[in-house]
Amino acid sequence: MQCMELNNLPDLLEQVKPCTNEGKVATYIPALGEANANDIGIAIYDKEHHYISAGNTEVNFTLQSISKVITLALALMDRGTDYVFSKVGMEPTGDPFNSIIKLETSNPSKPLNPMINAGALAVTSMIAGEENEEKMARILHFVRDLAANPKIQYSAEVAISELETAHLNRSLCYYMKQNGIIDGDVEELMDLYTKQCSIQVNCIDLARIGLVFAMDGFDPYTKEQIIPPNVAKICKTFMVTCGMYNASGEFAIRVGIPAKSGVAGGILACVKGQVGIGIYGPALDNKGNSVAGLKLMELLSMQENWSMF
Ligand code: GLU
Repeated sequence: MQCMELNNLPDLLEQVKPCTNEGKVATYIPALGEANANDIGIAIYDKEHHYISAGNTEVNFTLQSISKVITLALALMDRGTDYVFSKVGMEPTGDPFNSIIKLETSNPSKPLNPMINAGALAVTSMIAGEENEEKMARILHFVRDLAANPKIQYSAEVAISELETAHLNRSLCYYMKQNGIIDGDVEELMDLYTKQCSIQVNCIDLARIGLVFAMDGFDPYTKEQIIPPNVAKICKTFMVTCGMYNASGEFAIRVGIPAKSGVAGGILACVKGQVGIGIYGPALDNKGNSVAGLKLMELLSMQENWSMF
């Protein structure tokens, strides 16, 4: 029932709204530049069939890096932990999400974790299926199940916009291919990865997905165990150690809630056994996190005493 007591949510939102002027919408994927920098929205689901929301909760945005948590869960379910972690590490990195530096300096040269682009690309290459069409259908099906929304789709426009400009991600793939972390065709992998990143949700979908993670993979509404508890636990641990880019340490101190952000401005968060949270605020700080979203998470965590530490 916790979240239904949050009747000051609209006030908290008003409080953080000026922060949207402090950030910038991502433009390195050209289609993301069309977002309205002053949008800010939040939805919170609890396990007693309640949700509350405030602000721009109906705006659709693309998952971007938030999809990395979802494909990690699917790859772990498809291939098992031993295989996945033979190719991708478990350690946080203080580097930006698209950095190539640790690939070259770490030995063996596997990506440090599945939340940076190199690790996420390697994870996407592990999704089971014959062709990309089947793999993407499986990813979409999984997201729809988690969000309990069969209408979720990906944006072909955003996917193409990224595919045309993702030279750095391509280089990460070629580097990993050279070092035996991935095999197969790089363009095929880029096609699948950009589509996965372009899956469109709103805050309510995201909060619903967060609730499933909060309940260790169990959907309290459908009573279905969508993700095995050990897999949900691994995903949440990565959210804590590297979910908020190279600001994850500060976020753990200030907020203390497992969360994953994306460059379209989304934040997926989960408070163990209690609530799932979905935030949208496309004005980003220089590390790639929603400025107003971060502030909102901090205020909420303090008010509700949600820090896990
Ligand atoms: N598709 C984006 C990329 O790979 C995701 C980045 C992000 O949200 O951090 O550059």
